[in-house]
Amino acid sequence: MNNISEEPKGDRSKGPNFIESIIENDLRAGKNNGKVVTRFPPEPNGYLHIGHAKAICLDFGMAEKYGGICNLRFDDTNPVKESVEYIDSIKEDIRWLGFDWGDREFYASDYFDKLYKFAEALIEKGLAYVDDQSSEDIASQKGTPTQPGKESPFRNRSAAESLDLFQKMNRGEFPEGSRVLRAKIDMASPNMHMRDPVIYRIIKAPHHRTGSKWNVYPMYDFAHGQSDYFEGITHSLCTLEFEVHRPLYDWLIDQLKTGDYRPRQIEFNRLNLTYTVMSKRLLLQLVNEREVSGWDDPRMPTLSGMRRRGYTPEAIKKFITRIGYTKVEALNDIGLLEHAVREHLNQITPRVFAVLDPLKVVITNYQKSGEEIELINNPEEPSMGSRKIPFGREIYIERSDFMEDPPGKFFRLKPGGEVRLKGAYVVVCDKVVKDAATGEVTEVHCSYLPETRSGGAEANRKVKGTIHWVPVSEAIDIEVRLYDRLFVAEEPTASKDVDFRQHLNPESLKIITAKAEPSLAEAKHGDLFQFQRLGYYCVDSESTPEAPVFNQTVTLKDRWGKR
Ligand code: ATP
Ligand code: MG
Repeated sequence: MNNISEEPKGDRSKGPNFIESIIENDLRAGKNNGKVVTRFPPEPNGYLHIGHAKAICLDFGMAEKYGGICNLRFDDTNPVKESVEYIDSIKEDIRWLGFDWGDREFYASDYFDKLYKFAEALIEKGLAYVDDQSSEDIASQKGTPTQPGKESPFRNRSAAESLDLFQKMNRGEFPEGSRVLRAKIDMASPNMHMRDPVIYRIIKAPHHRTGSKWNVYPMYDFAHGQSDYFEGITHSLCTLEFEVHRPLYDWLIDQLKTGDYRPRQIEFNRLNLTYTVMSKRLLLQLVNEREVSGWDDPRMPTLSGMRRRGYTPEAIKKFITRIGYTKVEALNDIGLLEHAVREHLNQITPRVFAVLDPLKVVITNYQKSGEEIELINNPEEPSMGSRKIPFGREIYIERSDFMEDPPGKFFRLKPGGEVRLKGAYVVVCDKVVKDAATGEVTEVHCSYLPETRSGGAEANRKVKGTIHWVPVSEAIDIEVRLYDRLFVAEEPTASKDVDFRQHLNPESLKIITAKAEPSLAEAKHGDLFQFQRLGYYCVDSESTPEAPVFNQTVTLKDRWGKR
């Protein structure tokens, strides 16, 4: 998996993709009475990540495009790992992406009765049996892809005995792990999933929806395909790893179906991103071990993390459209996602001034008071209007915008040099004040050229650099959280010998106090801005009017590796 996709060469959205072609062919052939019914089937055992967004955009997108419907179905077959918190977060994330499942919120657990009856019917038909062996013994008999497995000594027990044992399992008469129900298919099948897969196991934990009604729960593979069937799903879209499960799903549906209808499963490639991990199991580990502050930590690839970080649904969807759907696994460059975020935020965000690493500038010949500078909020979007920032004798500029002894092509502030303060005057650097002990520059003294403001006689004075600034007396302090990649390795799970946590970036979060223009005091949770010349930022959920907190969403340019 090392074919990292490069900068987009154009949207792959043009022309039907292979899934659209299949659906269009089915429609032309009059299958399913011309209906398209899809579903998004999350297991509520964690928060959704951007990989799920790829599936969501396809499941809901295909239904939308072909006049069909898309169900939301929680595949809640493992009460030990699932919770209502996850269900609620999943619904919030899908809505945030802009999709709607109407009143079709379903649960695999809605079908537990039907599934149980179906399991009993399989036993009666001699197509399932209770196995009394431990999971270790069963695993040891599985064989390998090239070697057939060994049949269980319980495989040929009578249907009556299996039925009785299965019912006792469900009444709670046996401990967890002591018995399972297996489909009786073929221990010599070249497809390992067909070698008498376990279809029910004993779990004595209450379920968030069915309470303590059940002591046996269907395996995901036993619930998923049948749930599709019960719901009349026409096109069951899933990721490539389920391709090898398809024969099992088909076999089960063959035992169940009464007419011609069967769900058609189509597999597509997963979304994998560089410098991150995308498995709920691993993300849960990061949360539990407090490597991140929670599922919605802005460094997480979760949708809740991205929302908190300031990513927009539009940007995420654009990115997903660009990478497209294929049959080949690939690793997608996280830079492509950031590129899409930048593109969208460039259009929609107001520009503001903030100085992350302030250096005080004293304009020694400036005597006025009460002067305000008017600035355009978004040159891309004139309807966003303008705002005023107070100007004064003392301002902050970015420390990196001054150099005492700069190289040749440094066009910002330097001793004797001129620079334009954006929207305001040209200033000349007269003097540098330093800390006697450390030699650090503590202040820069300048004089301003009064005629260089817009409307003045020298408004068009040629200077090579323009820098942003904030007034010292009116600036507000804001906490800014600067983010870097969560992992330093492109593929943190690439090696089986190295734990993925070894690749965590110890510098993925840096918290600083910055100086910002006073208008930011009114910013509300979720508001997005371009801090001019720096990047895009949004107000964090922990922000309060007294202590504003901003997340760095993305830098203006791709600076990865250049910091
Ligand atoms: P994970 O492996 O991250 O734990 P999962 O596949 O177990 O995810 P589910 O809740 O079972 O998570 O997934 C719901 C749907 O989302 C499935 O149809 C699955 O194929 C799809 N999906 C999960 N991860 C990705 C991904 N990285 N790219 C595209 N689709 C995905
Ligand atoms: Mg899964």
